[in-house]
Amino acid sequence: MINQPNVYLDNNATTMIAPEVLDAMMPYLTTYYGNPSSMHTFGGQCAQPIEDARAQLAKLLGADPTEIIFTSCGTESDNAAFFSATFYHSDRKKIIVSKVEHPAILNTAKELERRGYTVVQVPVNEKGQLDLRFLESELDYNTAIVSIMMANNETGTIFPVEKCAELAHRVGALFHTDAVQAVGKIPMNLAESQIDMLSLSGHKLHAPKGVGALFVRRGLRFRPYIIGGHQESGRRGGTENVASIIALGKAAELASQHIADENVKVRALRDTLEKEILSAIPKTYVNGDLESRLPNTSSISFEFIEGESILMLLNQFGICASSGSACTSGSLEPSHVLRAMSIPYTRAHGTLRFSFSRYNTEADVKKVMEHLPTIIARIREISPYWNQH
Ligand code: PLP
Repeated sequence: MINQPNVYLDNNATTMIAPEVLDAMMPYLTTYYGNPSSMHTFGGQCAQPIEDARAQLAKLLGADPTEIIFTSCGTESDNAAFFSATFYHSDRKKIIVSKVEHPAILNTAKELERRGYTVVQVPVNEKGQLDLRFLESELDYNTAIVSIMMANNETGTIFPVEKCAELAHRVGALFHTDAVQAVGKIPMNLAESQIDMLSLSGHKLHAPKGVGALFVRRGLRFRPYIIGGHQESGRRGGTENVASIIALGKAAELASQHIADENVKVRALRDTLEKEILSAIPKTYVNGDLESRLPNTSSISFEFIEGESILMLLNQFGICASSGSACTSGSLEPSHVLRAMSIPYTRAHGTLRFSFSRYNTEADVKKVMEHLPTIIARIREISPYWNQH
């Protein structure tokens, strides 16, 4: 039996499957194992629940169920949006993204660059806010798609996506948003939005890994990215991941019910942690746009030390968070997000991200505060940079 850490503050990486979600999906892994395309009873038992899940998810987004395509993850949804937009706008050869997108967007854009597209990255300022003027100046009739995330995964900064969509439409470009971190955390109503396509991922909102969705506005031509059978009305081939789709529907239903309350509760926990850290530990800074930020995310820099050492010591006390370095590349370089915000190296290196969910409690904040100030003091004591200052 693995000894579970007891404070999980890494919910932007992934979330716990909600118990109600697990209950809802289990019968589709056991009793109802049919293929939804089959004409017999086993098939029928799965086909309607998929449509119910589509309706649940559509309700959370303020969309029509016909506008939802189930996919395998946020990354697939992002890829699908780019490949469809560039297929139908094949006369346009420019793609605009922000500098702080997730690799699912940045690397998809890079791939299209290799295939002859010009990719423009919109910068952000030191608060992580998007340079709208730059975006406006780059938009032209050669632009096929603009993709700006709804909220940043590292800092929680929320972007003015409606404004971006409006600007994109002025030149006839499509607008896509990666809302993987925003769905379930902030309310949205796509019926009254200008967004053409939106990506989301189940495992960020208490459904399992391996399921996502792409919203495609009604009337927009869509080219499948996964080519195969007639599933998802011919928009995504492959036998449906029935249990996970049911799970995503249930997770969306729970998010619709609790979004307002959770916003208050989760925000209060996050704000308490930030306030206590700032008052207990010198030379600490909160990153991002503090006025326009996801309620669950806090990116904090502890000057003159390495985020990884803090994480390792926190982990020894059963506290899990994440750092602001590009550790996926095997280096301890500050992440591209912190670099784009021109956060000084001495701060960027010592950045931690705490991300909450509805399952966190005041006891979690208390436990962090029991250990974090001592950990930071210990590391700073042996840090040559700290001692020079
Ligand atoms: N986009 C953003 C903003 C994310 O934070 C993530 C995951 O961390 C993804 C896309 C990728 O989602 P998935 O893990 O479902 O492929």
